[in-house]
Amino acid sequence: MIQIDHVSKSFDQRTGGNFMALDDVSLNIKEGEFVSLLGPSGCGKSTILNLVAGLEPYAQGSIKVNGKSITAPGPDRVVVFQEHALFPWLTVLENVAFGLKQKGIGKKERIEMAMEQMKLVHLSKFADRYPHELSGGMKQRAAIARALAMDPQILLMDEPFAALDEQTRLILHKELEEIWMRTRKTILFITHNIREAVILSDRVLVMSTRPGKIKKEFTVQAARP
Ligand code: ADP
Ligand code: ADP
Repeated sequence: MIQIDHVSKSFDQRTGGNFMALDDVSLNIKEGEFVSLLGPSGCGKSTILNLVAGLEPYAQGSIKVNGKSITAPGPDRVVVFQEHALFPWLTVLENVAFGLKQKGIGKKERIEMAMEQMKLVHLSKFADRYPHELSGGMKQRAAIARALAMDPQILLMDEPFAALDEQTRLILHKELEEIWMRTRKTILFITHNIREAVILSDRVLVMSTRPGKIKKEFTVQAARP
């Protein structure tokens, strides 16, 4: 479903010339697979995710989703970021329904669809709250609900739980696992936490830094139904 072939990416760093963030990265992700990209800060994890999201241009190599080259963001791929993803001036419900409005879905229907997603992340009672009234864990639940409301084929998750305390993170792991079991979305999940990668994913791709490369990969032998 996601096919990355020999992609390299350099950033123009005004002070030190060209900086190579990714060097000849190739990877394939199958439909319904939950794959983690694991590696230290700065190894290029977010860069890969942003390329797949269509948020960054690339000069070398090819990135395809369902056989089609990625040139821009699309409704088949939605990103969940680490934080600050919700619009502070909208209620939680309005946040979750936001993309549906952009899609041209009518008010009654989009509220129903948004409420359905809120139920899945246990936020129904907080529909009319504003983001600043929610805990960190609840904000990330809302961000996940907003992504799922768009019904993308692929969820791109960029360290979604990194800013949470350990206890909240464990709860969110369980909830994400349940969501994945129910929806079987293809998930590309970024983390620098090996425990998180192993708990959540089918397969872990380990990156090394300077320049960013995929060093090795391993399959997690989880007993998944
Ligand atoms: P990670 O997600 O693994 O922490 P990133 O993909 O964010 O790593 O960054 C990889 C490298 O590319 C880092 O050294 C970072 O400083 C550099 N980089 C990322 N984005 C930019 C940018 N827009 N301009 C210049 N350098 C960047
Ligand atoms: P999380 O549920 O994301 O782990 P907390 O541990 O902070 O976040 O919250 C525990 C519980 O407290 C929540 O499930 C919720 O029922 C309640 N709660 C948190 N923030 C609020 C709020 N702003 N208003 C009302 N109840 C809240």
